[in-house]
Amino acid sequence: MRSEQTVRAALLGRAHLDVDDSILLVARRAITTFRLAQRVQRLKRLDPPTREALRFLESVTHMSGDKATPAHRRPAGASGRHIIRGLRRWLELRLRDLENPEMESSQIVREVAVRHERLEALIMRNREIEAQLSDSARAIRGWCAYFRTDEHVAAYRRCAGHLGRLLAEHRPARSRWPSSVVVMFGPSRSLWRMRAVSGRAYLTLPTGMIGFNDRQFEALARMIHGMGGRATVVQAMLQPPYQAIERAMERYGGACPATRGDAHDLGDSFHRVNAAYFAGHMARPRLAWSRAESGRKFGHYEFARDSLVISRRLDDPAIPSWLLDFVMYHELLHKRHGLRWVNGRGLAHTAAFREDERRFERYQEAEAMLRRLSRPGRVSRGSNGSRAR
Ligand SMILES: [Zn+2]
Repeated sequence: MRSEQTVRAALLGRAHLDVDDSILLVARRAITTFRLAQRVQRLKRLDPPTREALRFLESVTHMSGDKATPAHRRPAGASGRHIIRGLRRWLELRLRDLENPEMESSQIVREVAVRHERLEALIMRNREIEAQLSDSARAIRGWCAYFRTDEHVAAYRRCAGHLGRLLAEHRPARSRWPSSVVVMFGPSRSLWRMRAVSGRAYLTLPTGMIGFNDRQFEALARMIHGMGGRATVVQAMLQPPYQAIERAMERYGGACPATRGDAHDLGDSFHRVNAAYFAGHMARPRLAWSRAESGRKFGHYEFARDSLVISRRLDDPAIPSWLLDFVMYHELLHKRHGLRWVNGRGLAHTAAFREDERRFERYQEAEAMLRRLSRPGRVSRGSNGSRAR
């Protein structure tokens, strides 16, 4: 029953990564069905949720526990999909331990060290896994390696306690959140994320924030309570202490080399654009294809991670390479221009940005083509000059 529900969730695009073995069988059967459908109707013509579900189901069959089923050889474009069962759940439990005052730090360090060793042993036994790890597994691998020392666990607990006190201090009378907040520093793609579960709030923050100073934590607490502070927080994430922690975890997690998609290579696109528009002076950011296909967002540049993500939707033989280059150019301009802070809001698409953007050789044509590619009727674009990419 549970497997059916999981498969259904996957079909609806709400894939849950921590699935049990029994789903493998169902997943393989579903893939066979999909493959048959594919022969009749080309994959591209499947609607996006179905396509995404297919990708998910394929990833499920490559899943393994600590006792690894041999990883299959995958084309480069499909890497980043190796899921290690139970890893996310394990991390959640450790994050709760870290917040529990009755839990000894030395015991947490031991647990993390054991998990770290098991993960590394798994990868040593089966080197292929490394390039295929999912983003989530990679991030948790880096987290484990970082927090297997007393010093880092102590810093974590100190910061969580400090921020917890600040959150209580700054809490407005009519707060949306319960007063009891569990602070967790872990792999995270958002600036912050809060969930309220039965009278307690669970706050997830990027791990690098344990490098914040008092003033920056104060701004963080204000930001979470909706009282400004965002500019200070985002700028703090670009400072060396935050960056050093995130970089260390990323190194431990292992780099993901998959810039080659099915039709295009992001590394090639970067080199073309860098040579043509930046005289080769642009330092290469982390490049990745997005996991989900997104109809309206073609690219994204994240300052704190120096990471440039391009929608997998553009990884299609029908997309000319110059169009991919235009999106690459747009995102690299974000890196070049940075954010301009006005009243606590970071402005990205300034007049100077737009002027540079129009230097792209086939600018008009590219804009028109991207407009056609965005799904009509789904997005309201342009009223305030902001763009979804
Ligand atoms: Zn943009």
